[in-house]
Amino acid sequence: MTLLPVSGLSVLLLMGAQAAWAFDPELHRAYTRQAVAAWAGCASLLPEVGAALAAGTDAEDTGVLTAWQRLTHWHFYNRDGKLLPFWFIDRNIDRIFALRVEALEQLLQQKRPPITEVYEQAGRVLHYIQDMSVPAHVVPVFHVAGSADPFDSFKRRESLPAFSLSLDECQQLKAETATAPAYLHTLLNEAAESTLRAIGQRPSGPEMAENAWQRYWAWPARDPDEAAKGWGEYGTCTFALGPVNPGCKSEAELQAFFEQQYRQTLWNSVRVLAYLSRRVEP
Ligand SMILES: [Zn+2]
Repeated sequence: MTLLPVSGLSVLLLMGAQAAWAFDPELHRAYTRQAVAAWAGCASLLPEVGAALAAGTDAEDTGVLTAWQRLTHWHFYNRDGKLLPFWFIDRNIDRIFALRVEALEQLLQQKRPPITEVYEQAGRVLHYIQDMSVPAHVVPVFHVAGSADPFDSFKRRESLPAFSLSLDECQQLKAETATAPAYLHTLLNEAAESTLRAIGQRPSGPEMAENAWQRYWAWPARDPDEAAKGWGEYGTCTFALGPVNPGCKSEAELQAFFEQQYRQTLWNSVRVLAYLSRRVEP
């Protein structure tokens, strides 16, 4: 086996660094803060603890200390177990997510869990769960900065109300949340599968028959080599506001789809908050 030439290696690493992004890194922090604000209506949470969770979701894309892990562990869902490791690079999230969950569990197992550290680590776990609402990270469609997925930077309409939870929803969250680390894996997988259903790429999805979202994120890729590696590809439509090409979704349909994925992200974020509250204050 020959060694990868240095230039090839650096290209690969550069691709890895950029492939790690899903939602704009700033958005992970912003969405997590919105979830913390909503959760504050359900339970008391020290401000520094909420800030630590938000910082953790951001750090998974930007932290200097974990830069090497980011290069070698990409943030793509391992759809049907097809996205296999390549050289020393894990193209799917399986291993890194398991590592983050395990590190969180070790903190929680301490006699007196260091709360701020617990929430920062939980933010790292939550980052991957949030990523699973971004179609390109689930289909999966490889993308790098420069050809970044427009969904990542899509702007939610400012006139829409802030995400909030009713008292009933608070109760429901507290009742339905499990207390075993397997729950976090369940949240990740359900978020990914729900995104696939939403774009009509799983049976029982709303548009399986028509599958117009296939024009945005197609699977499998047409190139048989790419398809065999587990990749999908972008279609002919772009998830962005502007002139609508024939066969593409209207502005209202894009807004509605984004809102649905946004709400999924926020719901999963408050589920993680409910999980933490059960784990650290049993
Ligand atoms: Zn990510």
